[in-house]
Amino acid sequence: MRLVLVGPPGAGKGTQAHIVAAQLSIPHISTGDIFRANVAGGTELGLQAQEFMNAGELVPDSVTNAMVADRLAQPDAQTGFLLDGYPRNREQAVVLEGLLAERGIALDAVVELDVDNESVIARLLDRAIKDGRADDTEDVIRRRLDVYSEQTEPLVGYYREHGLLRSVDGVGSIEDITARIVAALAS
Ligand code: ADP
Repeated sequence: MRLVLVGPPGAGKGTQAHIVAAQLSIPHISTGDIFRANVAGGTELGLQAQEFMNAGELVPDSVTNAMVADRLAQPDAQTGFLLDGYPRNREQAVVLEGLLAERGIALDAVVELDVDNESVIARLLDRAIKDGRADDTEDVIRRRLDVYSEQTEPLVGYYREHGLLRSVDGVGSIEDITARIVAALAS
């Protein structure tokens, strides 16, 4: 299975991606996690990404697309993957399509976690207190939500037109939402 999980910041993508990828025995590839690991490790990539992340902006496509191309070339991603947090704009979606097309493959489905704005803000503020992520301050959260509706949400329509979209209600217990995702993928 070659999957993309899309949804606003705070929708619970990371939690669900982790569970669903394990169930399907495919790698969970989170661009946010990869960037954070690089920031923590002080790598060149981390230095390039850090200022954008802390401002709630997207890391430039050139940096992000190259990183994803590298990751998808790894042996564990050859039989499938679950992308979490990528693509996040039209340009990234086009690059991903090209990367896969070069290998004669394509996405099987794009799962959208549908969560209302208020739930998302509440979750993010809650996480800010618990995890202390540098991009979880109120101003930056607002910016990330704006970036999502301006740049990422249009992708939902794009994938719907391509017949790939499976929309799942992202409000409920973790187990319920996982079950909805699994059911949506089976349909
Ligand atoms: P969230 O979904 O809560 O916003 P992520 O962990 O997915 O968190 O991403 C955190 C930050 O990492 C983003 O705000 C952005 O700066 C950067 N990032 C992650 N994925 C991408 C991407 N595909 N393109 C550009 N920047 C990205």
